[in-house]
Amino acid sequence: MASIFSKIVAGEIPCYKVAETEHCFAFLDINPVVKGHVLCIPKQEVDYIFDLDDELFCELHLFAKKVAKGLKKVCPCIKVGEAVVGIDVPHVHIHLMPLNKPGDLNFGHHVAMTPEELKALASEISAAIEW
Ligand code: AMP
Repeated sequence: MASIFSKIVAGEIPCYKVAETEHCFAFLDINPVVKGHVLCIPKQEVDYIFDLDDELFCELHLFAKKVAKGLKKVCPCIKVGEAVVGIDVPHVHIHLMPLNKPGDLNFGHHVAMTPEELKALASEISAAIEW
């Protein structure tokens, strides 16, 4: 069965899309830990990041780097943090999170955002990414 993220890539489930390339896709996390919490995924459905072939592993990280630079312009922060967990969704994803203090990278904490806010934020980040 296709993962929830494969269904997002296929357009079967809606998302707040931030960026897309031939092999990678980025969208806002639906339950953000901080404002600007973005997930970067390979379109290919692989569960564990270290099972990606070398080429796609590198491509995903270069894609995440571009997205992170755009994200930092829109969500002012000291640094954009990167985390890979993958316990809930068995489809590789890199979490990108704007960080202003150590506690910001806390998966036990969430910020409430309306669908309108998420939509506006996704298009702002999308417009700020330089390819
Ligand atoms: P983990 O697999 O533990 O790295 O966490 C999965 C992440 O995916 C969580 O932060 C969820 O909020 C996020 N997530 C799950 N379903 C969706 C969805 N449909 N759209 C956006 N983010 C999602």
